[in-house]
Amino acid sequence: MSTATLTIDLDAIAANWRALDRLSDPSTQTAAVVKADAYGLGVGRVARALARAGARRFFVAVAEEGAALREALGPGPQVCVLAGHMAGDSDMIGDLDLTPMLNSLDQMTRHLEALPGHPFGIQLDTGMNRLGMEPDEWAAVAAIALEAGPELLMSHLACADEPDHPLNAQQLATFHALTDGTGVPRSLAATGGILLGPEYHFDLTRPGIGLYGGQPFAQAQPAVRLSLPVIQTRMVEPGEAVGYGCTWVAERPSVIATVSGGYADGLLRSLSGKAVFWAEDVPCPVAGRVSMDLISVDVTHLVELPHSLDLICPAQGVDDLARLAGTIGYEMLTGLGPRYSRRYTGGAA
Ligand SMILES: *Cc1c(COP(=O)(O)O)cnc(C)c1O
Repeated sequence: MSTATLTIDLDAIAANWRALDRLSDPSTQTAAVVKADAYGLGVGRVARALARAGARRFFVAVAEEGAALREALGPGPQVCVLAGHMAGDSDMIGDLDLTPMLNSLDQMTRHLEALPGHPFGIQLDTGMNRLGMEPDEWAAVAAIALEAGPELLMSHLACADEPDHPLNAQQLATFHALTDGTGVPRSLAATGGILLGPEYHFDLTRPGIGLYGGQPFAQAQPAVRLSLPVIQTRMVEPGEAVGYGCTWVAERPSVIATVSGGYADGLLRSLSGKAVFWAEDVPCPVAGRVSMDLISVDVTHLVELPHSLDLICPAQGVDDLARLAGTIGYEMLTGLGPRYSRRYTGGAA
């Protein structure tokens, strides 16, 4: 097989969900965020495994993702849409029983007119300035909104991965000020917020990255392995160069393996000269630039020529690779692209 293999461990994802669920009080519901095709891992398989683990509520970014998720899960689990109720989405929201998290008075008006009686939540902005009603907007519409019966009031933390950041406590205080006494279930924490402690948990948490083995959930089980097949190996003499721009020049007789995968697969070009592949537990440095579909790897020191080399594996997690590329685990995972053959392990039943 010439495409690289992305192996996704559904048992690890389920175990991570359970571990995050255990971090909050049993009365706090733990949802699962599966936007962007479950962070690039395949929303159908991942969401079904999470549902079997006990997740009853899922979050996606936009209604189209909600439609795909509903198809994968069937009726029952709640599918919440973070973009809220956009113009043109009413049929999809109604027919597929999606729950929009309304972001503005505009959206609220649209929702109550198009789908009266259909469940909705409300997103409040507590300081991130990205989505949700601002405190003054909320003050103006809260009475009408609460009368209409939202089933969740939620907000999102901007700096939850930095526990000492003063904005965390500030957003928490603002969220209390906006929602105390409403009697409506509340949600503030994603993965980072869960780790900040119980005062951030409220009635529902919304972990995403931690399910998939990413930071800031340091105790997460790794859920992904990325293995690139070696297409060809060659001898390179001292003084010969490898790859575009001749940025790598052999200093000794070398063996170069050419693996299948490149920046078109989300293996960022910024990994050129920096990434390390792994043959089991032996590191093998990239030789020269990452190209669109191929990467050259120095395997001179290996005793046996490998059939494949790993880029994400126990020795090098998603966040380690992201660091080498100058980005974060979230971007690394969601950028992995459609060309891999995605193999699923675990998730039995
Ligand atoms: C993406 C997102 C989440 C999940 O965040 P993680 O950091 O991946 O756990 C939760 N809530 C909202 C509003 C989000 O946009």
